[in-house]
Amino acid sequence: LGLERPDNEPIYNYEPGSKRRKEVKRQLKKMKEEFLEIPVVIGGKEIKTDNTAEIKCPHDHSTVLGQYHKADEELVQQAIENSMEAKAEWASMDWEDRVAIFDRAAALLAGPWRAKINAATMLAQSKNIFQAEIDAACELIDFFRFNNYYLSQIYQDQPASSETEINKMEYRPLEGFVFAVPPFNFTSIGGNLPSAPAVCGNTVLWKPASTAVYSNYLIFKLLEEAGLPAGVINFIPGSGREIGPEVIADSRLAGIHFTGSTATFQYMWEEVGRNIKNYDSYPRIVGETGGKDFVFAHKSADPEALITALVRGAFEYQGQKCSAASRAYIPHELWDEISEDLIQQVEDLKVGPVEDFTNFINAVIDHKAFKDITEYIDHARESADAKILAGGEYDDSNGFYIDPTIVLAEEPDYKTMVEEIFGPVLTIYLYDSEEYEETLKLCDNTSPYGLTGAIFSKDREATVKARETLVQAAGNFYINDKPTGAVVGRQPFGGARASGTNDKAGSKLNLYRWISPRTIKENL
Ligand code: GLU
Repeated sequence: LGLERPDNEPIYNYEPGSKRRKEVKRQLKKMKEEFLEIPVVIGGKEIKTDNTAEIKCPHDHSTVLGQYHKADEELVQQAIENSMEAKAEWASMDWEDRVAIFDRAAALLAGPWRAKINAATMLAQSKNIFQAEIDAACELIDFFRFNNYYLSQIYQDQPASSETEINKMEYRPLEGFVFAVPPFNFTSIGGNLPSAPAVCGNTVLWKPASTAVYSNYLIFKLLEEAGLPAGVINFIPGSGREIGPEVIADSRLAGIHFTGSTATFQYMWEEVGRNIKNYDSYPRIVGETGGKDFVFAHKSADPEALITALVRGAFEYQGQKCSAASRAYIPHELWDEISEDLIQQVEDLKVGPVEDFTNFINAVIDHKAFKDITEYIDHARESADAKILAGGEYDDSNGFYIDPTIVLAEEPDYKTMVEEIFGPVLTIYLYDSEEYEETLKLCDNTSPYGLTGAIFSKDREATVKARETLVQAAGNFYINDKPTGAVVGRQPFGGARASGTNDKAGSKLNLYRWISPRTIKENL
């Protein structure tokens, strides 16, 4: 029998005066007063190097939270050797014992670690409390619990036997080690990318995103406290350019678990290709990358629901979700009805630091993001093919702040309508409702991505038409809901095309990638 299906972790709302709110505020204060020294951790040993980088708040240039030590090539080699040493014992441990560790991690995060991990995500990744809560607390707890549950189901699945033969599937981990490379935008993904392969019996090298080392390190410490044996996951922050090729060149690389930019993913895959003759086994490559996620409105759409989806889908966490709504197709007549309210609501979104819980919009992650996003805004301001309807202002004097911005595009292939921006910019294209089907096709064809998308419609036939036309346009397709906020165990998450390998985070499909089964037949 497998494990019992877990419930999703409840989301707390941190209302004014609540104990939980006070505890988060206390953690925020403490973290800003302290200076966290983050080492490389190999085989449970903390290593300091003379190559360090400062960790600052994206929304406040004057606050330094700590520093992390960068792993060099030699430490990467050490980490790989150590991974291989830790492997035998970890892989042969009873699966119930492995699962118990991640169960404890979930309990620790749900309880005593919750406020700390939320505060770390708020300060170092500039996420407001509500966005931190659904990510760093709830989603990561769900990942831990659901991975356990799905893994138990996989292990139960056995082939048929008969009176003359017994057949068995032995769900071995991969041979070698796994390289986990998460993004900055979700602390939960930071924790899940190393944990999913690990719970299957693999050992893992974890290179956190340089802009999320703080929260990721705390997750690492949490896993240690939960009883994860030394060396099962080695923590190697540092430069991707240095660490990546070194790891990928190793013959024992068994898999890559990646979330991040399309360009980096393609680069890694190319590196694997260059090394393909050297590996003991073909590395499993699992990646979730970019998106140009759409909201498509039919003329029958509910105006209120559509406005809410656009505001939340496009601007929560400053649009820095792979799933963020970044292009919308709206019929003229519906636009006339919603435009004023939509623009007003976006103009009203409060922008500022995370310490004030009423701020909806905080800073974008770093200077590079600020520069890239504001270039798109400038382009729209100067282009004859676009008009800025809301926002458009930005200011990095105190932090990397960009006002939530709506661009109206004249043409469906205007730059901000087709390129991934990864920031608080929503581009809208107005279409003639007579041309619903053609515009659906256009939506399908104007982007190389296939991550998320939403159709808003109260007309069943129109909804079905959208679902059929946009078959490959989104791995997560929402009907009358925003395209963000997938919940583990409910909306398994991932997309194909240029958006990745679609191995659905937090699902059985993902776990299968970290398993190399052996089929055993025994004659009786
Ligand atoms: N799973 C998240 C969502 O549904 C997005 C994850 C990502 O940005 O990579 O919003």
